[in-house]
Amino acid sequence: MIHSFLQNLVDVYPTIKLNQRIAPYTTFNIGGASDYLAIPESNAQISELIKVCIRNAIPVKIIGGGSNLIVSDSGFRGLIIINKIESWNIIEDHFNTDSIYLTQTQSRLSTVGKNFYTTEGLDYQDPPDKRILVNVTSGTRIIPLIKNLFQHEITGLQWFSGIPASVGGAVYMNMHGGNYYFGDLVYKAKIFNGKDIRTVDNHYFNFKYDYSILHETRETVLEADLLLYKGDVKKARDLSIDWARRKSLQPQRSAGCIFQNLTPEDQERLKLPTPSIGYLIDKVLGLQGIQKGDALISRNHAAFIENKGSATATDVFYLYNLIQEKAKTQLNLTLKPEVEFVGIF
Ligand SMILES: Cc1cc2nc3c(=O)[nH]c(=O)nc-3n(C[C@H](O)[C@H](O)[C@H](O)COP(=O)(O)OP(=O)(O)OC[C@H]3O[C@@H](n4cnc5c(N)ncnc54)[C@H](O)[C@@H]3O)c2cc1C
Repeated sequence: MIHSFLQNLVDVYPTIKLNQRIAPYTTFNIGGASDYLAIPESNAQISELIKVCIRNAIPVKIIGGGSNLIVSDSGFRGLIIINKIESWNIIEDHFNTDSIYLTQTQSRLSTVGKNFYTTEGLDYQDPPDKRILVNVTSGTRIIPLIKNLFQHEITGLQWFSGIPASVGGAVYMNMHGGNYYFGDLVYKAKIFNGKDIRTVDNHYFNFKYDYSILHETRETVLEADLLLYKGDVKKARDLSIDWARRKSLQPQRSAGCIFQNLTPEDQERLKLPTPSIGYLIDKVLGLQGIQKGDALISRNHAAFIENKGSATATDVFYLYNLIQEKAKTQLNLTLKPEVEFVGIF
């Protein structure tokens, strides 16, 4: 059974790797080995690999930037697909948006606290009547994409500067930057459900804070059509540089914010000046700076756990549980993870 599975994988992807560490494919640089690992060269190859896994009932997981993952020290029993398929092109230069309606995710972001980066003095609107439709493959990395688009006078992604994500992960998570959400820019996308490829529109994703329907369906995004702007590139570039600078105090060897910001109801009940989870962990729970092994609740931004060198997933999980338990016992608050755990914990 396993032998024929491997043969099926090799038929699709001849250089499949066995027993490969996942850590180098994550920003945390943490995680054990995957039974099988592939870095496909086309969307067709991605779909075929997923099909083989489904046919053989073998778990499969796609990774983009690996920037929202905590991978178990014991790794992953199945196939890890690293998506590095990067390309973009303009579909329509002057896109008429009169008859379309996109989501507007309700914000849950914060701007207070001396140690917290803020959007203060930066915000402005791209011109709503100058839209351009751009197709992007899901493995495309956001940071270089923003720069490439600027060179073609295309704006709209500037608030996502400094985030080491891919387009696929950004759709999956409805990634947020400043007060903006990636999902609100998705016009259509090509997705694969394990059997068929189809095109779905913005509403299909049911985008919410840190959420898309993909969390339930586990479908794979192959491409996205983004509705961007023919905006003021100088302004957008300045914002992008400034925002990335403000964000750069966040630890890069991490998986971003460990927990979601508070709901308006919890913020109200606890009478906090901000929904920021970093504020809660630092100022209310007093856990900033706590270390386990090489994992540290960041001194720069307490919502992040950082890897100071050779932290293990077990170290990170200890700190994660510590924050959960304190929030529960001291505040009767159940925190929701923003990161995703991969493998067995
Ligand atoms: C330094 C740092 C700063 C960050 N700042 C922010 C921030 O400002 N705002 C924010 O929202 N997040 C932030 N994050 C978290 C992270 O970047 C986002 O959650 C991002 O959306 C993850 O994208 P990714 O490509 O890295 O996804 P991955 O971590 O690779 O995967 C995350 C999930 O998406 C799924 N996925 C990946 N590709 C696809 C695909 N093609 N189709 C379907 N599912 C897919 C994976 O299977 C997994 O379930 C930050 C992280 C770091 C390390």
